[in-house]
Order: sequence, then structure tokens, then C-alpha cells
Amino acid sequence: MAQATLKIDDLRVEVGGKLILKGVSLEIRQGEIHAIMGPNGSGKSTLAYALMGHPGYEVVGGTATINGVDLLELAPNERAKAGVFLAFQYPTAIPGVTVANFLRHAVTNIRVPNRKEGAELIPMREFRKELREEMGKLEMDPEFARRYLNDGFSGGEKKRAEILQLSLLRPKFAILDETDSGLDIDALKTVSEGVNRLSGPEMGVLVITHYQRLLNYIKPQFVHVMLAGRLVESGGADLALALEEKGYDWVREKYPEIAEELEEQEAAEGSSTVGTRG
Ligand code: ADP
Ligand code: MG
Repeated sequence: MAQATLKIDDLRVEVGGKLILKGVSLEIRQGEIHAIMGPNGSGKSTLAYALMGHPGYEVVGGTATINGVDLLELAPNERAKAGVFLAFQYPTAIPGVTVANFLRHAVTNIRVPNRKEGAELIPMREFRKELREEMGKLEMDPEFARRYLNDGFSGGEKKRAEILQLSLLRPKFAILDETDSGLDIDALKTVSEGVNRLSGPEMGVLVITHYQRLLNYIKPQFVHVMLAGRLVESGGADLALALEEKGYDWVREKYPEIAEELEEQEAAEGSSTVGTRG
């Protein structure tokens, strides 16, 4: 099959009635690794959530398609079936649902897309074997599968659980939102190796990160900088290195009007209850 392309065109997204993404365009082909970097509050997570169909993120303009199929028309589970995966910046705990049970349902629903509600899951024995193998590769204790999803997990455990899910679902496009946050260097290496092992001609990757550190391990071919809801700069891996060296100040200086929008937004949030999230 021909390589799929995730095409985002002039995407505009509102959160709580406020325009956050102000026209983002980006094309990712299967097999490519892209990184979006940018100061906090720029809208990186907003892009990720909007692509996955989070109800709090309202698309008010633009398109997002995979090989011409309109993603924005689809419910989140349908987007997952279309091949999009999001590893969350802040994974949610689901007490009462074990990691194994959650993953078995997720994997079944992706691999048997026309499965009827309540129909058989993929066979336990087969799934267990696969789960054990993938957990082994991520250096996870097998006991982990019996714990409730993200319930009391450390930052590193949450991120590993996201990558475990990625490795079982094998999407066409994986969006990794700040997968490095909360990881010590060993966990960072394990998680990055996991992503590198999975990436290849079959998977396009969008790595979202504030820091360059992760990009020492997951090497993007394309790097984009987001500032106040727009992608203002695009380049190769060297762009990430420039950001590491010089920080974001030169980007702000190069786009003073856009940087000002970000400052105004931050000031407005500082005086309201919005923006309590990290
Ligand atoms: P980044 O991931 O680049 O740090 P976000 O996409 O999280 O940025 O946030 C962009 C802007 O949108 C910020 O001003 C943030 O406060 C606001 N925002 C995002 N999500 C929400 C939300 N659920 N509720 C309120 N404001 C939000
Ligand atoms: Mg974010």
C-alpha cells in the first residue's frame, strides 16, 4: 500500500471560547519523524488533542486528513481505527481497569475494527504472550499488567504505559506529547528505544517536546517551532540544536508580534482561573 499522509491544513482550534491554534499546516508521511517544539502555552498539546478529537477542543477552521479521509468528522475511536495514536502528556488514571484488560480491549478494537459491541476479544493466551514480549522490551515488570491503569503510577511508569500501548497498537501516525517529561535518563532511553524500534516505513511520528533532550534519542528529520498557536519556523534536526543552544528568545525576537500574543495570553490567564494546568 502507498505511504499514508497525515495532512493538517490551516487548522484553527478554540479552547474555552478562545482561539488557541491560529492556522497550523503540517504534512507528515508514514516513515517520517517530525518534532514540534515551542514555549509552554503555545498550543502544542492543543494540536494533539484536536487531532485526536478531545471534546473540549473545538475546531473552528481548517482540515486534517489521512489520505484524503477527513479525520475531524470522526469520533476519537474512529480516528484511532484510522491509524492515529496519541500518547498523552498527562495520562488519566482509570481505577478498576487493569493495564492488561485495557490494552486487550484497545488492541481488539483496533485490529478488529468492525467488531460488534460485546463480541469476543482477541484470545487471552495470544494476547498475554504478546503483552509479555512487549513489556519485556520496555523493561517493565510483568506485575505491572495487573495494576490499575495509571493509578498511582510514577511519571516514568505512565510514559512507559503509553509506549506499551503504542507498541501494541502500531498506528500509522503516533503523536507523542511531552513523552520525556518526568523521565529520568534511563527511562528516557528505554522509552526512546521503544519509539525508535517501532518507527520505520510503517509509522509516522510527531514528537512534541519543550526540551531538545528527547531529540538526542529520537532523531527527527523535520523540526517545527510553535509560537502562540502558529508554526513559525521549520527546518531539520539542526533547528532543534539551535533551540537547545539559544533557547526560544531568538524566536520571540524574530516574531515580536506573535510573541506578544503569547505574553498577553499568559497575563490574561494569570488573572483568571483558566490555565491552572501545566
Ligand atoms: P503547550 O502544550 O504548548 O504548553 P497548550 O496547548 O497546553 O500549550 O495550551 C495552549 C493554551 O491553551 C494555553 O494558554 C492554555 O492555558 C490554553 N488551554 C489549553 N487547554 C486548555 C483547557 N483544557 N482549559 C483551559 N485552557 C486551556
Ligand atoms: Mg503541552
